[in-house]
Amino acid sequence: MNIILFGPPGAGKGTQAAKLVDDRSMVQLSTGDMLRAEITGGSDLGIRAKKIMEAGKLVSDDIMIKMIEMRMDDDGAKAGVILDGFPRTLKQAEALDRMLTQNNVAIDHAIEITVDENLLFDRIENRAIQSDEVRDDDNAEVLKERLKVYHKNTAPVLPFYRKKGILRQVDGMMTIEQVAEKIDKILDS
Ligand code: ADP
Repeated sequence: MNIILFGPPGAGKGTQAAKLVDDRSMVQLSTGDMLRAEITGGSDLGIRAKKIMEAGKLVSDDIMIKMIEMRMDDDGAKAGVILDGFPRTLKQAEALDRMLTQNNVAIDHAIEITVDENLLFDRIENRAIQSDEVRDDDNAEVLKERLKVYHKNTAPVLPFYRKKGILRQVDGMMTIEQVAEKIDKILDS
């Protein structure tokens, strides 16, 4: 089974993906985590990506598509993946579709985690305080830009999956456990 988690920054995609990895042995493909690993590793890509991420903008489609393509070919990915942070643009969604078709697989569920955006500012501030990871994009100013980018570039991807009849919404303002339960129900449906 392959699924995509959608939702603005701070919606809880990473948290829910981690639970699914634990509970269902699925493989999480988080493009944000992949990019942060490039930054930590000090690669050329990491150096370029860091500036873009700190500004709350999107890394280029070509780079992101290649990054996902490489992981999709891994054996682990064949058992089923949770895409978290990808696709973020219509171009990425179309490229993903081609990749999956080539491998004779498909997305089973696209889940949009919806949130009250005014409350995201508190969540992101808490994440910045609680996390050991250094994320220069977890502050109110960059969050504003990331939300703008989400509405402009990523929200238009949702109708792509709605048309396929696989888009479902989950209220991300419930507790982590409650959100996980709703997602479980969708995956078991
Ligand atoms: P969050 O889950 O809080 O939205 P992520 O960790 O997924 O944040 O992503 C952090 C940043 O990494 C994004 O703001 C963007 O700059 C970059 N990024 C991650 N995935 C993509 C992607 N698919 N396309 C372009 N940029 C991306």
